[in-house]
Amino acid sequence: MKHKRLPALIMSLLMLLPFAGCAQGQTEESSKPTIEITVFSIGKADSILVRTGDNTMLIDCGEESDEEYILSELEKRSITHLDVLQITHFDKDHVGSAAAVAGKLDIDKIIYPDYEGTRSEYSKFMQAIEGHSDSSAVSEIISGTLGEAQYTVYPAESPENYYSDDSEYDNEMSLVTKLSFGSKTFLFTGDAEKKRLKSMIKQDVDWSCDWIKLPHHGRYCKQLSGFLSQCAPTYSVMTISSAEPAEDDTIALLKELNIQSFDTLSGNVVTVCDGETITVKNESTEEG
Ligand SMILES: [Zn+2]
Repeated sequence: MKHKRLPALIMSLLMLLPFAGCAQGQTEESSKPTIEITVFSIGKADSILVRTGDNTMLIDCGEESDEEYILSELEKRSITHLDVLQITHFDKDHVGSAAAVAGKLDIDKIIYPDYEGTRSEYSKFMQAIEGHSDSSAVSEIISGTLGEAQYTVYPAESPENYYSDDSEYDNEMSLVTKLSFGSKTFLFTGDAEKKRLKSMIKQDVDWSCDWIKLPHHGRYCKQLSGFLSQCAPTYSVMTISSAEPAEDDTIALLKELNIQSFDTLSGNVVTVCDGETITVKNESTEEG
């Protein structure tokens, strides 16, 4: 008797198939993973949130006075946990609110460059992360994953070259991060300056990318041209203030290399990528 009922059962299953197919198609489309990179609008200072699914990385924490802005932006997105907190270097416009962020959020991994800072913001940060189970000074190239994204962090090669200078070496010691998502690549360059850029151009690393956070707030130097030619990004973002706007030489260089330019002057810069396409938009100050 079972056999007689079988065709009817098959028929009803077949009738359901188109609907099942449709539902599956919709689910696949809406669950296609994306990555969102928000470069916060905090003037000539860096704080960049990278989010994909439930995974988050914060690169730099602006100045000490940016604490409220950064924490409120994280709160707006209901972020109470970071997979990675990275401080590129210990200048006050990068490590500024790091102690506050470390004190408020639950953080899995904390990374920073391998040298000692001199500023009070650095000491506060070090105090705040004392005893953290996974915090480390990066002196070798390291890699990791953030959801479906892969990242590699490059510390300065031959840091002794920078120490020997009597000038500030903080910027040159910046951790540089290359992040890949699908077929797209994003490059975060901290405040790297001419000596570091020169060293990076020679380094045996493929710096090509689709998107770049311009080094050192977009400050122009001769090496920027060679470096950007090697990176050949489609999009660039620079963190600037109205008091210290983009330099004409940098704007001209970006035009010459056909690189679309965005900055944080009038609001957060939000980049969204689904692994194949990238959209970048500047949130207005009203929205941001
Ligand atoms: Zn800076």
